[in-house]
Amino acid sequence: MTLHRHSGTPLMKYNYLVHGVKATVLALALNAASASASASALDAPNPDPNPSPSVPETVGTCPDYKGALNLPDFQGPERKRFRSWQSRYWSGAHSPYHMVHDEVVNPEDDITIVGKFDYSRTWHKDLEQEYVHAYVYGTGMSGWDYLGKFKTNDDGKISVLLGKKPAGEYIVRMVVEGDLSQADGFVSVVPKGQETVLFDIDGTLTLNDFEQVGDYIGTSTAQTWGYAKETVQAYIDKGYRVIYVTGRPYWNARDTREWFTKVVDLPQWHLRTNNDGGSPLSYETETYKREYLTYLQQEKGLKIIRAYGNASTDITSYADSGIPKNETWIIGENAGEQGIQAIHGDYSGHFFDVVEKTQEAACRR
Ligand SMILES: [Mg+2]
Repeated sequence: MTLHRHSGTPLMKYNYLVHGVKATVLALALNAASASASASALDAPNPDPNPSPSVPETVGTCPDYKGALNLPDFQGPERKRFRSWQSRYWSGAHSPYHMVHDEVVNPEDDITIVGKFDYSRTWHKDLEQEYVHAYVYGTGMSGWDYLGKFKTNDDGKISVLLGKKPAGEYIVRMVVEGDLSQADGFVSVVPKGQETVLFDIDGTLTLNDFEQVGDYIGTSTAQTWGYAKETVQAYIDKGYRVIYVTGRPYWNARDTREWFTKVVDLPQWHLRTNNDGGSPLSYETETYKREYLTYLQQEKGLKIIRAYGNASTDITSYADSGIPKNETWIIGENAGEQGIQAIHGDYSGHFFDVVEKTQEAACRR
């Protein structure tokens, strides 16, 4: 695949949302936003590594919240000319939207991590047949390890083998040789049975449901529900693993990570976006969430003890993956549907009534 617009990017809104004149006005406005966003290709660095979030010391087999924070000095590759003029053009004229797919694995697994490299918020032009350097840092390591140099395929992807890693948190950084643009991804090596709390993002932690309308402009600055941050932080402090599973398409990962660190002030952490994504069609989001949550529980042994969402598709995908309905908490207009637990208003009442009273994770007890 060479050049493609993903559903969910601004112009595709024609198909889903808008009509006639309103569509034209909206498309013009969004094109203007997209043009200004692409004004300088490299002023879109990876989010800060968030060196000072509040994270507890690791106890026993609790998640190592500090494993992939406070990153050591990083020495990237030497910049060398892109192999093709097309790559030079796209890199020079458009912002990078690279991302590395986060993975949850077990200590006995051989780890493969995939990076995807493209340019332009609107076009997502894949970076084809170009070199990318990969590095890893994490639990128990004193510095970055170099993993090698890889050539992207015709989908702009590289696959990197890491071998096996001890339980902990790792960050994989991939750097494009031609312009030194980069992306980070998280590998969580998790012993089976680790207690986990699941959060959807759109409409669950944020007030806006970008996921539902398929428009992701503004995700990096989205407002959160009251006490949403405190709710997530409380589970981190109690020793639970927190995972974020969103229907947002993979190319939104960069804005989402930026939002976590700059708006919410939570540590960077495992974030799963819809890898094939782009479409806001709800059945696709539902299927993707059900399949991924089933995989995490049945194959990776995560014990999801509580889940948060907002959409009716969250209710069904959580239930179908085996998460108990009495531990499924839904905020917003679908609260209380289908026999699940309701959060009315913001999280403040829920925080004091339920979250604060939740016992510490088993790894602490
Ligand atoms: Mg949602």
